Amino acid sequence: MSHEPTQRHDVIIVGAGPSGLMMALLLAKYGLTSHIIERRAAVLQAPRAHAVNGKTVEICSTAGIPADEIYAAGMPATHGGRVNFWSTLSGTYLGGLAYERQDDAVLEQAAYKLVNISQPQFEAILNRHSQANPHITLSRGAKCSGFTQKPDAVSLQVETQDGQREMTADYLIAADGAGSFLRAAMGIEMHGPDALQHFITIHFHADLSALIKDKPAILHWMMSPEASGTLISYDEGKNWVLMHSCAPGDEDVALYDAARCRALVTGVLGRDDVDFTVKDVSPWVMTAQVAARYRHARAFLMGDAAHRFPPAGGLGLNTGIGDAQNLAWKLAMVKRGLADDSLLDSYETERKAVAEANSGQSLENAMRIIELLGFLLGPDPENMLAHFEDICANAATSHELAAAIAAQKPHFDSLRLQIGYSYGGYDDTALGIDDYRPQMRPGDVVPHHAIKYQGHEISLTEFVQGAGFTLLLRNDIDAPALDANRLRVVKDGVDFNAAKDWSTRLRAHDEDLAALLVRPDGHIAAHFTADALCADNITGALARALEMG
Ligand SMILES: Cc1cc2nc3c(=O)[nH]c(=O)nc-3n(C[C@H](O)[C@H](O)[C@H](O)COP(=O)(O)OP(=O)(O)OC[C@H]3O[C@@H](n4cnc5c(N)ncnc54)[C@H](O)[C@@H]3O)c2cc1C
Repeated sequence: MSHEPTQRHDVIIVGAGPSGLMMALLLAKYGLTSHIIERRAAVLQAPRAHAVNGKTVEICSTAGIPADEIYAAGMPATHGGRVNFWSTLSGTYLGGLAYERQDDAVLEQAAYKLVNISQPQFEAILNRHSQANPHITLSRGAKCSGFTQKPDAVSLQVETQDGQREMTADYLIAADGAGSFLRAAMGIEMHGPDALQHFITIHFHADLSALIKDKPAILHWMMSPEASGTLISYDEGKNWVLMHSCAPGDEDVALYDAARCRALVTGVLGRDDVDFTVKDVSPWVMTAQVAARYRHARAFLMGDAAHRFPPAGGLGLNTGIGDAQNLAWKLAMVKRGLADDSLLDSYETERKAVAEANSGQSLENAMRIIELLGFLLGPDPENMLAHFEDICANAATSHELAAAIAAQKPHFDSLRLQIGYSYGGYDDTALGIDDYRPQMRPGDVVPHHAIKYQGHEISLTEFVQGAGFTLLLRNDIDAPALDANRLRVVKDGVDFNAAKDWSTRLRAHDEDLAALLVRPDGHIAAHFTADALCADNITGALARALEMG
């Protein structure tokens, strides 16, 4: 990998977090070169995200990262498959819930399962694949300090150890995180509630297995009014983050010396005889915001730079990966002259709607936890501890407590949001967020269906994510003559086979459906009945899909 880029790049990406790295890999898949600028000298060390959902694993796979590599670095469901609520970790167990769908049953609906993997491990995988990719170069320890746009290019000012440099590209991706310098430089506002809650996060190493015993979980919520906080388990319980809610202004790291950190950690553990080593202390402010605009001429916001959610729901990183999937093929089509520049405007329309839904849900999840606290602590501020101790004393038999914990389920089961989002603008809110019902409307993703292609088993959702558009035909339908350079045509029973017949499924969905026109990101651009399946209609639909603004 070159560290001394001299040539003009197709795309410059600021930020080598998950969004920026994934964008580079997807651009490379479509043949575009990119240069990443990252101010950190090394990959992230302190854990943040843990939930990498099935959609993200699928996108990784389409970018050349084998799913097995991600699963091998992740936590098995036996460790990360639940969420627990306690008074303190050595106190009363209040109850628990399954954490998302990590069992095999989900593979009926999704190509891949969600996996808990610490963000540094996930980023290390993305980083490794980026380094091995000849289309990608990366400057670490380099900070973007300004940019200018010209009609046909973007120039960046970059501070490096050797001084300031200028770099030029056709397009700029601002994947520079929640505090995005570039977003501010573009004058783009964030919409939605700011500074909802203030946290101090303490990253520590410890073996807590003696306290957790037979109740391993990805998240342990401590609900005691005397020592509350959320413990996130990483790397099979060797690495922990305590998220402790604090008063506004109290999240100044300077206020957290070793003694105060020790007191907070021992408080949630409920014991002071457990060895642990604090690795990092950092502040964090919870917001639920989405950028007013995602595009500024040749520059695009992506990931946390475009949206910053409460972590409740594990959607932040995953939404950034989805952003990259949506934009990469569009940039490639425009760059190759196959699509109008207006196609790039659809990035904002499509992804902003997803971010708004995810932001709203994450906020709802965070509020629902406050409802649980309200139940546990009672209405009388003078009597919270006694009320809580009373509930703890009857925890094993209390139906009210069981119901209050069961009410948290939407927080930890959001399959529809994770894999079922559509770009069709439909109002699917009548369905629960756990209720993913595969559909085949324009804008929907081609539903998962296990197929065999050249002897390998693959999901149809992934199979259709090629370099360009795909026409997916029912087994009894022939395609009209089409320009093979612009469209890949695949027919059930000829180009792929499935144990459970796909054409029967298509007919069951809609008897008249004969073919789907699918975008490179697996979303349906148009569908056709047998009568309407002619070259003019197909090329017309393709042209509209490439002009949508
Ligand atoms: C405690 C916690 C738990 C979470 N859990 C989950 C979860 O389970 N699932 C989930 O999906 N999300 C989760 N998230 C959210 C997730 O961590 C973020 O959404 C994710 O990191 C966003 O990725 P990104 O690449 O967009 O931005 P970032 O990861 O913030 O990366 C931005 C990069 O840009 C670099 N940068 C910034 N400015 C410049 C500059 N001027 N020049 C050069 N480089 C620059 C930064 O150094 C950084 O490397 C969690 C967050 C927290 C805090």
